[in-house]
Amino acid sequence: MTGAGPVPVADSVSAEFWAGCRRHQLLIARCIACEHLEFPPVERCTACWSDRVGSLRSEGRGIVEAVAFIRSSVVPQFMEQCPYTVVLVRLVEGVRMVGRLHGADAGEDPIGLAVRVDFVDTVDCSVPVWQPAG
Ligand SMILES: [Zn+2]
Repeated sequence: MTGAGPVPVADSVSAEFWAGCRRHQLLIARCIACEHLEFPPVERCTACWSDRVGSLRSEGRGIVEAVAFIRSSVVPQFMEQCPYTVVLVRLVEGVRMVGRLHGADAGEDPIGLAVRVDFVDTVDCSVPVWQPAG
């Protein structure tokens, strides 16, 4: 997928998440003080404001709650990939995550579909994507 488009840029808050993706591990933020889970990664827990935030390895499974069928993009590299599908997934751990859906029938409504995470590797990073759990 080299040249597939803009790549994520890790910062101090998201670096651990992206490093996990490189190892094909989906990490979600977990507050060490109160065990609150959330995504995307945060510097402080939004439940108790503790700055002691670690990570939990997700099972990488969830259910599609919303969908967008992308047919056009202002980013040329993404336009070349149209059409594609982006889904909102509620993970079994309870947090939601957005990502592309691969391996499903184009145009079919995936809401309610059980999915599992996969990773697309590029030269620069690994990006989580979703596919039917089978
Ligand atoms: Zn907390």
